[in-house]
Amino acid sequence: MSTTDGCGCSKLVTKYSDEELVNLVVKEIYDFIQSDFNSKGLNNQTGPQFPFIPLGISNRHIHLTEETFHTLFGDNAEFESMRPLYQPGEFASKHTLTIVGPKLRSISNVRILGPLRKYDQVEVSLTDAIFLGINPPVVNSGSLGNAVPLTLVGPNSSVYLEKCAIIANRHIHISDKEAEKHGLKNGDFCKVKIPGEKSTVFENVLIRTNKNWKLQIHLDTDDANAANVRESTFVEFIEKM
Ligand SMILES: [Zn+2]
Repeated sequence: MSTTDGCGCSKLVTKYSDEELVNLVVKEIYDFIQSDFNSKGLNNQTGPQFPFIPLGISNRHIHLTEETFHTLFGDNAEFESMRPLYQPGEFASKHTLTIVGPKLRSISNVRILGPLRKYDQVEVSLTDAIFLGINPPVVNSGSLGNAVPLTLVGPNSSVYLEKCAIIANRHIHISDKEAEKHGLKNGDFCKVKIPGEKSTVFENVLIRTNKNWKLQIHLDTDDANAANVRESTFVEFIEKM
C-alpha cells in the first residue's frame, strides 16, 4: 500500500488509473445527489415526491376558442405549438396578441396557450391589472362570471371581450390517485411553504385534480416574485386548510 500525504491524494493517484479516478469521482457525486434527493423526500427514479411540489410560474397568458382564434388570426390560420408545457397535452403556441385595457394602455406579446378551449380567458397578475387599469377577480381558471373586459388585438382583427380577464388563484395540479393518497380532493384549499431567502407561506392554494396531471404548483409572477423564487424550486405542502 502506498503512503498518503495530508489530503490522501498520493494514495489515490498511485492506486488508480485516470479512468478509475474519474469513475470514482462521478460515483461520489452521484451518491451525494441521491442522498440529497432522498433527504428531501425526492427520488430521481420516479420524479419529485409529495410533499415537495415542483413550481411552475405562470406568466400572463391567453386561452381562446377556435372561433376567436380565427377571428383574430384569419380563417386560414393554423393554431401551432411552439413547445410543450409540463402538463401532458398543454403547450405554448406560436401565437401572441396585444391586450388593451380601458385606459388604452396595452401589453404586447401575450402568448396563447393551447389546446384551444371552450372559452376566451386572459390570465394576468395584479401588477398587469393595475397597469392596464382593470380590476379582475381572483378565481379558478374557467370561472368567468365576474371576469372583466379587455380588447385583444391580433394580426387579422381585434375583439372586445366583455368577460375575459381574471387573476388565476394559486393552485396545485395533482392526479386524482395521488390526491386521494394524501387525503386531498378537487376543490380543497391548502397551505404551502416556499423555501429560500424570502421564505413565504401561501394560503388558499386550490387543489385541482385530473387523472392525467403531473404534480405541480402554479403561482403567478407576482406571488413568485414576492417569494423571490424561480422555476426549479420545490414548494413544500404544509397542510389542508
Ligand atoms: Zn395551472
